[in-house]
Amino acid sequence: MIETSGELQGRPLAPDQSFCFACRPGLACFNSCCTGKRLPLLPYDFLRLRQALDLPAAEVLSRHVELEADPVSGWPALRIKLTPEGACPFVSEQGCAVYLDRPTCCRIYPLARAVRPGKGGRPPREVFLRQDTPGCLGWDQPEELTIAAWTLDQGLAPYQAANNQAMGLFMHPARQGEVSLNDQQTHAFISALYNLEAFRPLAASPGFGEKFGFSQERLAEALADDEALLSLGVDWLTGVFFGKTKTE
Ligand code: SF4
Ligand code: SF4
Repeated sequence: MIETSGELQGRPLAPDQSFCFACRPGLACFNSCCTGKRLPLLPYDFLRLRQALDLPAAEVLSRHVELEADPVSGWPALRIKLTPEGACPFVSEQGCAVYLDRPTCCRIYPLARAVRPGKGGRPPREVFLRQDTPGCLGWDQPEELTIAAWTLDQGLAPYQAANNQAMGLFMHPARQGEVSLNDQQTHAFISALYNLEAFRPLAASPGFGEKFGFSQERLAEALADDEALLSLGVDWLTGVFFGKTKTE
């Protein structure tokens, strides 16, 4: 799973390797990077964006999201719909209007993170790469950082935790090459991972827990909290597509 826009390129960084970078208003390049980019929305990205916008999920989907099939995996891939001028709709003169809830790709820049599931219960394998984008003056700043410091500074922990869980679905070991979803499967995918208001009644329906192996405690938690509902949606879809659900 690639957590940044575009193809994964750049120089790998060792886990303890430092780099110099800072981004702030006042730089001549300020806001220039919010135009002309592909801005992927992973499920947790969308949840946070929807909360920031305080709009129904269906409205955010129709107003701000484009859907395509990922060219490599075939999974539905959502991204922010740019303006006719090619800008992110959330960029303003003062900067990002959804800064506290900006998606993973915006948080993690100037790095990119590629991650693969760990084998045998081990943690996911991850690689960070420098994204030396031409015109980005952040690279000329003196502040010295490590990957861990940047991850902390940018509030990436909950994003990476949710993205790692979704990776278990997207990169499931039973997946054979490119997936090809029919309309019904695509609807289930969008509902369980993005349109939680549509998924909640299904999760609350009689017999859902028994049928898919979820405890009443987990269902109750999911029905009371969107992040828990998204986590349930990931596990439900994993069961629907690959035949096994988690039961905690
Ligand atoms: S320093 Fe880089 S990331 Fe920051 S505004 Fe400039 S181009 Fe964008
Ligand atoms: S979400 Fe915010 S940081 Fe990301 S491209 Fe849009 S305006 Fe820029």
